[in-house]
Amino acid sequence: MISENLNNLKKRVGNQVTIVAVSKKKSPEMILEAYQTGHRHFGENYVQELCEKNEKLPHDIHWHFIGHLQTNKVKQIASFIYLIHAVDSFKLLKEINKQAQINNRKINVLLQVHIAQEETKFGLNKAELYAIIGSDELKKMENISILGLMGMASNTENTEIIEKEFKELNEIYSEIKKRRLLNLDFKILSMGMSSDYHLAIREGSNMLRIGSTIFGERIN
Ligand SMILES: *Cc1c(COP(=O)(O)O)cnc(C)c1O
Repeated sequence: MISENLNNLKKRVGNQVTIVAVSKKKSPEMILEAYQTGHRHFGENYVQELCEKNEKLPHDIHWHFIGHLQTNKVKQIASFIYLIHAVDSFKLLKEINKQAQINNRKINVLLQVHIAQEETKFGLNKAELYAIIGSDELKKMENISILGLMGMASNTENTEIIEKEFKELNEIYSEIKKRRLLNLDFKILSMGMSSDYHLAIREGSNMLRIGSTIFGERIN
């Protein structure tokens, strides 16, 4: 079932778009089933759960951390994480740089931009984003690579609202790319989940974070 879901999804979205299979609350066995189709990108939201799965599962998995990351937990994932999606403060960026340095590596991150109407969603507003991008301190952080932006649209049935939010994020992303405000590796736009990935692709997404469409609904 899982491998079928994943293969169907890949056919639908094409090979220009990276699918991060969101495996939070799903067992290592279920992840292995997806892995056996050749899939390598998996996303988790909880540090403890991610560390346990990383121990158990093959080491060529590219682990994405897609949840809200607390500064004091960065060190637990710093040695192996492939991409951290939801960086939304300078403090967190600094800690990631520090832990990357300790592990003698570079860590890839995305900056999370707040695009939804709901106040509860995390993320930087435009001013905060540009403040980080333009700061001198960032230039000195040699152990992080900012590869792109990530965002979550409002949780609504209203597709016009979702489209508008994705469009806004794509505009910010394109602006940063066009003006070369960050390095040349700036190339990832992570937006779209099970309910809205069609819209996200249409608005320029090149990385989807998809859980329930692949693994089935989460119970909790
Ligand atoms: C859980 C989660 C997803 C996947 O959600 P589905 O609706 O199951 O596809 C995507 N992004 C983030 C940040 C998540 O926490």
